[in-house]
Amino acid sequence: MKHTFTTPIIDTIAEIRNRIRELKNKNLIIGFVPTMGALHAGHESLIEKARQECGAVIVSIFVNPTQFGPNEDFGKYPRQLEADREICSRHGVDLIFAPEPEQMYPQAAGPITTVVPPETFRNRLCGETRKGHFNGVATVVLKLFNIITPDRAYFGKKDAQQLLIIKKMVKDLDIPVEIAGCETVREPGGLACSSRNKYLTEEAGKKAASIYEALKTLEKQYNSGLDLASELISVSGRILHPDIEVEYFEAIDIENFQAVKKVQKGTLIAIAVKLGGVRLIDNIIID
Ligand code: AMP
Repeated sequence: MKHTFTTPIIDTIAEIRNRIRELKNKNLIIGFVPTMGALHAGHESLIEKARQECGAVIVSIFVNPTQFGPNEDFGKYPRQLEADREICSRHGVDLIFAPEPEQMYPQAAGPITTVVPPETFRNRLCGETRKGHFNGVATVVLKLFNIITPDRAYFGKKDAQQLLIIKKMVKDLDIPVEIAGCETVREPGGLACSSRNKYLTEEAGKKAASIYEALKTLEKQYNSGLDLASELISVSGRILHPDIEVEYFEAIDIENFQAVKKVQKGTLIAIAVKLGGVRLIDNIIID
């Protein structure tokens, strides 16, 4: 689609601060969508929501090294800044903040102050295998909040644990920003959109659709009267394609992050799997 506006890419903290000051001088409400780029329909839905609700929209694109473990995919995480700019321009994003790691973490600074979410939040689910991941996430999000100073920031419910940790950080540290949680956007077969879906072969993509099928099956079983978490998970786990290796599949109380014995309204059903070397996560909240 043709559009005349091209979103500027800003790569320094000093310059983005200048540009945001200009927007604030116009009394615009600042909406912020933090991302790691390789934008897809999930990101676009966040951007759209921000566009509808705010006078100015800032998207950050930063593959944050501190949230990747040593054996994870930091080096090969997809980077496509020009294609991302095209998407942002199409949605009328006012500014892209795309710093290099050196801008965010200058070598000369040495070790940096880190935000450490409570242990029960950071060490469960994804935190069990991704040690330090949520410290990295919370720290970079706080840095980005301090740089962008948004009125509202938009996060996807696909990363449920991340969303809950950010909400808690904002509350605990009195950060003056409103957090908006946005529904998970899915591919036609049901697989949650993710930048990592690019790594999947077509065949693996089809197998991966069974992740959402398993979640929907669990919900159906619950609606038909079953509420024992272990049973629900074992029955719906059989829906998963046999090539899928489950990292966790759990029923969680979102207040304290503990596993529940009985599923009820509001229970988070979260799953992480590996398929063909690609790590995928998904979840639903029972309603
Ligand atoms: P990422 O670039 O993966 O760090 O994601 C940036 C933001 O987009 C996070 O708030 C994610 O939760 C959100 N997001 C990622 N995938 C989806 C999706 N399928 N639907 C909705 N939001 C998403």
